[in-house]
Amino acid sequence: MTKSYPDHKSEGAAGAELARRDDATEARKRADAPGQPSPVEESGQLVAADRPDQVAFEYAPAPESRSVVHLQPSYGLFIDGAFVEPVDGNAYKTENPATEEVLAEIAAAGLEDVDRAVEVAGRAQKEVWGPMPGAERAKYLFRVARIMQERSRELAVLESLDNGKPIRESRDVDVPLAAAHFFYYAGWADKLDYAGFGPHPAPIGVAGQVIPWNFPLMMAAWKLAPALAAGNTCVLKPASTTPLSALLLAEIIQQADLPPGVVNVITGAGSLAGAALVAHPGIDKVAFTGSTEVGKDLQRALAGTGKHLTLELGGKAANIVFEDAPLDQAIEGIVNGIFFNQGEVCCAGSRLLVQESIADTVVERLKRRLATLRVGDPLDKNTDLGAINNAAQLEKIRELSDAGEAEGAIRWSPSCTLPSKGYWFAPTVFTNVSQVHRIAQEEIFGPVLSVLTFRTPEEAVAKANNTVYGLSAGVWTEKGSRILWMAGQLRAGVVWANSFNRFDPTSPFGGYRESGFGREGGRQGLGAYLDV
Ligand code: NDP
Repeated sequence: MTKSYPDHKSEGAAGAELARRDDATEARKRADAPGQPSPVEESGQLVAADRPDQVAFEYAPAPESRSVVHLQPSYGLFIDGAFVEPVDGNAYKTENPATEEVLAEIAAAGLEDVDRAVEVAGRAQKEVWGPMPGAERAKYLFRVARIMQERSRELAVLESLDNGKPIRESRDVDVPLAAAHFFYYAGWADKLDYAGFGPHPAPIGVAGQVIPWNFPLMMAAWKLAPALAAGNTCVLKPASTTPLSALLLAEIIQQADLPPGVVNVITGAGSLAGAALVAHPGIDKVAFTGSTEVGKDLQRALAGTGKHLTLELGGKAANIVFEDAPLDQAIEGIVNGIFFNQGEVCCAGSRLLVQESIADTVVERLKRRLATLRVGDPLDKNTDLGAINNAAQLEKIRELSDAGEAEGAIRWSPSCTLPSKGYWFAPTVFTNVSQVHRIAQEEIFGPVLSVLTFRTPEEAVAKANNTVYGLSAGVWTEKGSRILWMAGQLRAGVVWANSFNRFDPTSPFGGYRESGFGREGGRQGLGAYLDV
């Protein structure tokens, strides 16, 4: 069932659990032999150098139960408050990327379905949701948030099944943050007149919202909650490979008794349903999160139509570590920056810029930390890295990693066992990376870190800004003045100081340059759905 990926440094070293034990035994033997390298360096396993008889404890399987999720064999489109079949009856299958098991059949919306969804959303906006007092809209949003919390386990398991992300992340990050967005924007719904957008800010109308597969539920919440709070109605199109949590959210919206037509969820291909949705004349505002290529297409298609548009696109963030940084925290921040959600994060810290004086230490400590990451079953509560979401994405990660090697960077992965079925990629670090390498310029969107060095703060800024993107950055240093100076110099929408990948509904998120424009979250995120 499993295949082993060797440590790229020591070609042929086994990575299976059994092999871990063999390594430990070997390491114990070697530790007794004078002049032998440290067992930690040699095997990549945590064997205490001064206690050669001790191996790091191994984790027993801790699988989250699937029984909380009631998968239906097939799902329709959610239009006008009800689940309906698509007009032409087309469907496709969504699978579990960790096993390639088919989870359900999903309706594929055609042009008539898009028409209908936009039409009912327009009617609901004019007749019900728009004229409704903000305090009343807030009650519905609070209700959605509370039901999300009540059904949080179900949402988390479903998200991990459909996306491949570890249950620890869907349970502790995605679902709580999604509910928090509904709570937060519910609070704004009756305070729009005092939000700083003029005395009586009006909703824009009908929002067409297209979201990606890396944070399916969270992206749905980021899009729906501010739009609804501001009095807009929505037609949401989830990514083809991850429709299930958006459909469960539609069920929650039904349960919360939202008036029919206020939220509609249409599943299906982006090139057909997604393109038809954003181009539809009944859509007043388009909000898109996804690739820069599609974002550019949308911008071209929408130019001159008068539609409001916000784009949240790719990134190639620099995570910058100075020699005075708190190193233990920085190592955790680097790991969280690039290996959270398998690196399938637009703001991932995919370029580590480390000050030259500490580069060797940081890389060595990073490798030791990576040797302890557990890659495997997303539903296991101890898993750190789950599956890559889809075959095409895995292919892209492989292609760019191979290019890194071909261009002269040095590739390293810890010994780890990858399941033979599903889409998997071992955590990978590239050293000896130069700025012109593709792995230093292109968004890989996978668990791959490119390490570059710098000597001075000015050089760090120049290298960090040497990208077409501008979404996020991280700075690790104990000097507050340096943090402030760097934040002013870095051309990134979000700069984290001594932390990385921190999200909060009160805080605006978004980029500029090829990372897009517009903000989600906070008061700014509300403004994106008001005609101001
Ligand atoms: P896409 O941009 O193709 O997909 C994002 C969303 O847009 C999906 O819902 C997709 O639908 C939809 N879509 C696709 N084409 C159109 C279109 N012409 N009109 C309207 N909607 C459309 O991203 P991919 O999933 O193909 O990922 C490719 C790369 O994009 C990744 O490798 C990564 O680099 C980047 N990416 C960035 C994300 C971010 O958060 N900024 C998120 C996801 C990807 P469907 O799923 O049906 O194709």
